[in-house]
Amino acid sequence: MRAVKLTAPGTLELVDVPTPEPGPGEVRVKVASAGLCHSDIHVLHLPTPWPGPDPTLGHEGAGWVDALGPDVSDIETGSPVLINLIWSCGRCRPCVTGHDNACITGGRYRYPPTPGLGPDGAMADYIIVPARHVLPLGDVDPVGAGPLADAALTPMRAINSAREWLTPGATAVVIGVGGLGHMAVQILAASTGARIIAVDTADDKLDLARRHGAHETVKSDGDAAAAILAESDGYGADAVFDFAGVQPTVDLAAGVVAPEGALRLVGLGGGLLNYGANADTAALPWGVDIRKSYGGTRADLLEVVALAARGALTVEHTLYPLADFQRAFDDLEAGRVSGRAILTP
Ligand code: NAD
Ligand code: ZN
Ligand code: ZN
Repeated sequence: MRAVKLTAPGTLELVDVPTPEPGPGEVRVKVASAGLCHSDIHVLHLPTPWPGPDPTLGHEGAGWVDALGPDVSDIETGSPVLINLIWSCGRCRPCVTGHDNACITGGRYRYPPTPGLGPDGAMADYIIVPARHVLPLGDVDPVGAGPLADAALTPMRAINSAREWLTPGATAVVIGVGGLGHMAVQILAASTGARIIAVDTADDKLDLARRHGAHETVKSDGDAAAAILAESDGYGADAVFDFAGVQPTVDLAAGVVAPEGALRLVGLGGGLLNYGANADTAALPWGVDIRKSYGGTRADLLEVVALAARGALTVEHTLYPLADFQRAFDDLEAGRVSGRAILTP
């Protein structure tokens, strides 16, 4: 079968590898879609090859169960499934207390096994998945559904962690309307009464946000903070979600969150939060609740699939044949993708 592998820093290749067989507790999934996440761009440009030698990328996968491991009997072959982002153990304390996105197998600063960022991922014809980490998609078409596993799951966790702030009448700010951000706008629109202000540098991304339920849009520039504060009584937004994580957006997020508000940092663009443990509150108002948010839980993923099943959450996407992976990566890196780029075998 074919697989997109990171063969050297900055270099991706489509290679032929043996079609893997599912072992005990595993299933083989015939891939229908593999989303490209901006994290793949970060990984591509790491100075040393990672994760491990020649990994197959792709952590946003969906497809059809194709073969079962010897002891797996409760899944039907041919059924459409979403592949969980986080292959948590299900037994450790974080797992059993509902924080499986922080499964202890990941260690303190890393993360639990994630396909495409350790185990071979979904940018291939087939992928091997632990049986407990495939979720039925029901009537949701797996072609186009892969990004639900991360681009929707990750915002769902960030939003679920801020529910108490997202009351009717609240203001929510979504910074970065890319793959994750356009899902966040839809989740907020479908599941909260908050007024949604979307922020991006690109006009087409602001159009995308409006199409998916944003009430206001703000261009991300030097005037953005003032514009958002003017939209929120000069006091700030109740919940701010940063899906870019570059220095200008981290500064903007801190600069517009209301006192006692929620700040959710999701993007991994290398920005630093300027926080000093002193009474000078110019950098951050009092009482702000900050979360460095990673992925989501299995419970969050069930909510994602439920919203998608009732048509409240759709992945705006462009399909690229698997062999055209390089064009997809180039388009994502150049900001030419609206929603998500998806590879399909
Ligand atoms: P994307 O490329 O699809 O979207 C990024 C968006 O941010 C684009 O619309 C871009 O125009 C916008 N943007 C860039 N600079 C901006 C600025 N200065 N102001 C406003 N908007 C700006 O990326 P994505 O796949 O949605 O991923 C977003 C980030 O989230 C990446 O850093 C990725 O690595 C990270 N991520 C984190 C997690 C997690 O669990 N924490 C999970 C998935 C992705
Ligand atoms: Zn990702
Ligand atoms: Zn665990």
